[in-house]
Amino acid sequence: MQYVIHFEISAAIILLVILGDYFRHKKIPTIQNKTYGWLLIFSFSGTVLNILTVLVTDIAIRIPIPVLFLLNAAFLLATGISTVLFFIYTVALAGKLRKLHTAAVFFLLLPYIIEAVFMLATFFTDQVFYFDQMHQYRQGPMHWTLYLVYYLYGGGGFLWIMLQRKKIGIRRTILIAGTFLIISFFVVIQYLYPRYMLIGLSAAIPLMVYYHSIQNPYNQVDTLTGVYNRAVLVPYLKEFFESRIPFSVYVFALDDFKQINSIIGIKNGDILLKKVAQYFDQTMPDGNVFRLSGDQFAVIASGVIEDIENVEYYVNHFPKIWMIEETAIQLSSCVLGFNGLEYQTVGELLTTVDYAIVSAKKEGKSSYHLVDKSYKDSSLLNKKVNEALIRGIEQDRIKVFYQPIVSRKENRVVAAEALVRLDDEILGPIAPDIFIRIAEQNGLITKVGDIVLEKVCMFLNKNDIIKWNMDHIDVNLSVIQCMQENLEERIFSILEKYEVDPSMIDFEITESAAASFATLEKNLQKIYQRGISFSLDDFGTGYANMEYIVRLPFDTIKLDKNLLWTSIESNSKTEFFKNITHFINEMGLSVICEGAETQEHIEYLEEAEIDCIQGYFYSPPLCEADFIRFMNYFCEKNHTLS
Ligand code: C2E
Ligand code: MG
Ligand code: MG
Repeated sequence: MQYVIHFEISAAIILLVILGDYFRHKKIPTIQNKTYGWLLIFSFSGTVLNILTVLVTDIAIRIPIPVLFLLNAAFLLATGISTVLFFIYTVALAGKLRKLHTAAVFFLLLPYIIEAVFMLATFFTDQVFYFDQMHQYRQGPMHWTLYLVYYLYGGGGFLWIMLQRKKIGIRRTILIAGTFLIISFFVVIQYLYPRYMLIGLSAAIPLMVYYHSIQNPYNQVDTLTGVYNRAVLVPYLKEFFESRIPFSVYVFALDDFKQINSIIGIKNGDILLKKVAQYFDQTMPDGNVFRLSGDQFAVIASGVIEDIENVEYYVNHFPKIWMIEETAIQLSSCVLGFNGLEYQTVGELLTTVDYAIVSAKKEGKSSYHLVDKSYKDSSLLNKKVNEALIRGIEQDRIKVFYQPIVSRKENRVVAAEALVRLDDEILGPIAPDIFIRIAEQNGLITKVGDIVLEKVCMFLNKNDIIKWNMDHIDVNLSVIQCMQENLEERIFSILEKYEVDPSMIDFEITESAAASFATLEKNLQKIYQRGISFSLDDFGTGYANMEYIVRLPFDTIKLDKNLLWTSIESNSKTEFFKNITHFINEMGLSVICEGAETQEHIEYLEEAEIDCIQGYFYSPPLCEADFIRFMNYFCEKNHTLS
């Protein structure tokens, strides 16, 4: 028979090009990628062997039959292995194959092994193929059994894809199913017209299609730094989770990289990033390096991190000086360690990573942590609360409660503190201490702050607090809000909308190290000039910075409830408590004390000459309707409040 091998030669060239390019690039070592690599190798060798079997037909008479047999058998074995690999690759593509168990591999290979033994035995039986007197290849009566293996593995893979189609998505299903159809088409043609050699092409076309869509190594690597990108991190981590192989994650978050970029320029910043990535690649050979985001890298290694010293090691050994051309740049990094299997899913692990980076950054440069389970719980809580906040804003579930502030001497409610409440449909009521902190982290605080002020203004618009002899409503203003450029406009546009006089509002502000003092001062002064008063909240807990009291326009200092509770317990602190109060009064400021719960607290405050008191002793925070009832009750009956 005169064989046509042109298709096989083109297939061999195509496969060689893909093979060269594929192995030149770095790729993440997943089962899918490894199988694809083997597929290329076996398909290429099968095709070359096939070409050789044809090329030797003219000189076959001079070649001993055992050599001819080995050549043909090697071709058939390589092609058979490719078929099995195709099946494994398909299952891995559908995301179902994370670890190959020995038993599973054996059962998977069984049909192929039987077929291979049967085919090798043909040397003695002549059943599958044999060589005639002219040493020419001839099909035996059982030649068709070779095709059984193709149809078994091919059909199995096709069925698998069809069953998993929902999971892998319509586009990939069409792509993979399409390649199966191409292969089947070639195999049928090959069977009907054995003269045309097509087996190599039937592998080369699908492998080329995969190379350009799913397997492209260019899609796996971050183009700037040459390490893996975040997109391939997820499938890579999934394999660890499903195989339950212990693994650890080291996250490096470079300090002040934005600032460095602005000093040395983006181009040099990119060079620096590249150098840092190379450093990770070289110094951590057991791990795979990923670029998580701009200035964050993750190294995934097998095994667990035993203790914090392992993490500390990387902070201490991170090079302090980096040379870019002639310039020496100082660089440091926060390092976080995670033991992967403490988490349930990849999503959970990556969320924790993101949260942990934010908190590590807050602690300052070169901070390091071994992030444990408890952090995971709190980071998940953060995520849930964040979602609840978004829901709360959308569904108008953010409410304002009012807690009276009482002057004992004047026997009246001088003010009320507006306190935000969030009763989520899933999580139930969430403490403001928790959701305000989270809103401050994610930027929602400005929205929440606007909602609270708007509700308070609506309340003031409907209710004349002067008739209750009240001076104002106290509204908490987060320091993050105070940093807004347009704070003044935002506040006064709300006040104007509800025709509220600025003197009806007092803003409570907490000392914070996070604030830029200059911006804070500028913003507060502008608002103060327009008639809104300010109180310093939670005095005695924070950064007790005298500059705050002296330079910012406060009229009132609110002593924190913990200051009251602890000072009442120890005599030495009682003195301090009294002195502080005198000192504030002497500065011409008034004092309010929070947290008075008992008669004992009230008497103690009386002794310290504190007149204005807020606390459960008088009333907890009340919803709007209850607060109105509370005020009407005292005003109508002219009750005494103490
Ligand atoms: P804060 O501004 O110091 O408010 C006083 C807190 O002490 C309130 O807690 C109040 O319910 C509580 N409190 C008052 N008297 C007593 C008492 O006698 N015993 C006890 N155990 N607690 C008392 P709440 O409502 O849970 O608010 C906590 C914090 O959340 C507030 O502390 C404030 O920092 C923040 N917050 C509340 N509403 C807002 C808001 O609208 N905006 C901003 N930015 N923060 C808010
Ligand atoms: Mg307050
Ligand atoms: Mg307070």
